[in-house]
Amino acid sequence: QAKASGKACHRVYNEGLHQRAMATIEMEADLRQALTHNQFELYYQPIVDIDSETIVGVEALLRWHHPAKGLLNPPAFIPIAEDLTLMPQIDAWVIKTACHQYFQWRNQYPDRALMMGVNVSAQNWGTPKLLSAIKQGLAGQDGHWFKLEISEDTLLNNTLDNDTPIQYLKKLGVSIQLDDFGTGYSSLSYLCQICCDGLKIDKSFVRDMQQTPQHYTLVKTIIDLAHALNLTIVAEGIETVEQREILKALGCAWGQGYLWAKPIPAKELEHRFMA
Ligand code: C2E
Ligand code: MG
Ligand code: MG
Ligand code: MG
Repeated sequence: QAKASGKACHRVYNEGLHQRAMATIEMEADLRQALTHNQFELYYQPIVDIDSETIVGVEALLRWHHPAKGLLNPPAFIPIAEDLTLMPQIDAWVIKTACHQYFQWRNQYPDRALMMGVNVSAQNWGTPKLLSAIKQGLAGQDGHWFKLEISEDTLLNNTLDNDTPIQYLKKLGVSIQLDDFGTGYSSLSYLCQICCDGLKIDKSFVRDMQQTPQHYTLVKTIIDLAHALNLTIVAEGIETVEQREILKALGCAWGQGYLWAKPIPAKELEHRFMA
């Protein structure tokens, strides 16, 4: 009897495995076409000044309109795109599109000086292709508004034996934000060495800071660290008024989260935040 059920398990397992393999193969084929079929879109999420609750910038976040599965968020496809080494092309498209949008908004709303946060993948950090995509996107203009977001892990996986990519970006005026800060293992000397300009507190710490005293202390320490090193600071994932008030009391300048808005299409952002 044990043998029989063991066999059944074995078959179910294989079928599951087969289905998953097929799903991945299908997804890969779809993903290879996504760029040429114009299926990507950038959504934008406001970054606000916590004291005045005015918008100071946006973060561009990638969405994929999958022909059958509908709207997909990055965690559903970026790992596959990384396996297929499609991220250099996707990042280049994201940079180009975000820059176009920035210039359009600057023309349309000259009174607003919004910054634009752009994420790039680990695979692509510091490559000539990435640097030239940024240079082209800026079209010869100063890039003080362009905030490159790199997750803390990414930078640590890429040993910086030469710092020319960072120097290059600095010359373009681009600034570097360490995303998901607190989830990696940066040392203080490392933070100084890479000349980053800002930290983004990971949303997991914001979520847990009221329940977990250690997380509250961590959030407070990251904010104090940013002040001490003269870095900008954004808290991610603010969903409640209570979280906003705690962060305000800790002196966190900027915030981002569902409390103000989810990532939304450009037109919706214009209606809700720029008019
Ligand atoms: P991230 O850069 O840390 O982006 C923040 C994520 O938190 C976004 O998820 C955003 O929708 C989500 N978020 C914002 N506010 C809240 C909130 O109040 N509560 C909760 N629960 N979540 C919130 P999203 O858009 O699914 O992106 C996930 C990750 O995918 C990003 O994390 C980033 O690492 C990556 N990513 C997104 N867009 C791009 C892109 O254009 N290129 C690359 N290379 N990576 C991207
Ligand atoms: Mg980000
Ligand atoms: Mg983040
Ligand atoms: Mg994150």
